[in-house]
Amino acid sequence: KSKADKKGDFLFYSNCISKQIKRKMNIQNELLHAIEKDQLSLHYQPQMRAIDKKLVGVEALIRWKHPTLGDIFPDEFVSIAEETGGIHELGLFVFRRACEDICALSSNEEDAINLSVNISPVQLLEPDFGPIILDICHDVGIDPKRITLELTENIFIHRLDVVKPLLSKLRELGFALSLDDFGTGYSSLSYINSLPLTEIKIDRSFINKFLEIYQSDMLVRMIIEIGRLCGLLVVAEGVETKEQFQKLLSYGCNRVQGYYFARPLTIETLSETIAIFQSENESNHYLDK
Ligand code: C2E
Ligand code: MG
Ligand code: MG
Ligand code: MG
Repeated sequence: KSKADKKGDFLFYSNCISKQIKRKMNIQNELLHAIEKDQLSLHYQPQMRAIDKKLVGVEALIRWKHPTLGDIFPDEFVSIAEETGGIHELGLFVFRRACEDICALSSNEEDAINLSVNISPVQLLEPDFGPIILDICHDVGIDPKRITLELTENIFIHRLDVVKPLLSKLRELGFALSLDDFGTGYSSLSYINSLPLTEIKIDRSFINKFLEIYQSDMLVRMIIEIGRLCGLLVVAEGVETKEQFQKLLSYGCNRVQGYYFARPLTIETLSETIAIFQSENESNHYLDK
């Protein structure tokens, strides 16, 4: 390449990098105001019990509608919020809003669905995290037993003797605890049965190829078996096809979540979806008789 071409490449790359830095700085600064400006919203993705495909819960997923950058996804801004400390306020916003939405949904106790909320390790390490979210539950009027806190394996970059008491405290307050994206990060088998977990979620990256790739298939079966032996609920995320679902069911996976059943929905659409599911179930009962 000529000198001029190389200089062109350099300008091109440094342009890209400065664009990335600008975008990150924008996000950093504006995230602080996104809550007050009402740009953040929650979507809810249904989780089904595998044996009868009954909708038993939803996972809250945050969305940001930025006025100029458009839709920004959490994979991009959650880590930025963690760096700046904004995650505390963001996390509490998500927790309260999700509790309110789900509380307003279900009328009778039998149909009360579970709510799963993603929690950043940074939030978990805040000294009063447990009591603060318990307060929110009391305020809103939702039983903490209906709430699952989803933690990623990133918590294990902290020492086990720091993490374990924090998790035990949350369990004592009534919250269920799920290990999200299981199999992708730092967890080891000894963590799984020494921590007070109630659930593991098989990462999407295994689910999307386990029908084709034998190693992934083995991993999926092993994780389901580990979950069963440890008395944990096993949830598969990212289930996109009927074939994936049927195989997971045959392996004994307890719950499934993914586009095959439903995408993340607004609370309005979720509410309509639940109504349809329930009326379908009722008509099934009618046919049984
Ligand atoms: P996650 O908790 O593992 O959430 C699952 C992600 O997979 C979601 O992406 C969901 O939209 C997507 N998904 C669900 N089903 C399917 C499927 O069948 N196919 C495919 N291709 N994708 C599927 P999303 O909403 O972009 O969230 C990404 C991650 O951001 C989440 O991963 C979670 O770690 C984090 N996150 C989302 N909301 C929050 C939040 O309120 N607080 C914190 N701390 N993290 C959050
Ligand atoms: Mg999750
Ligand atoms: Mg996950
Ligand atoms: Mg994930």
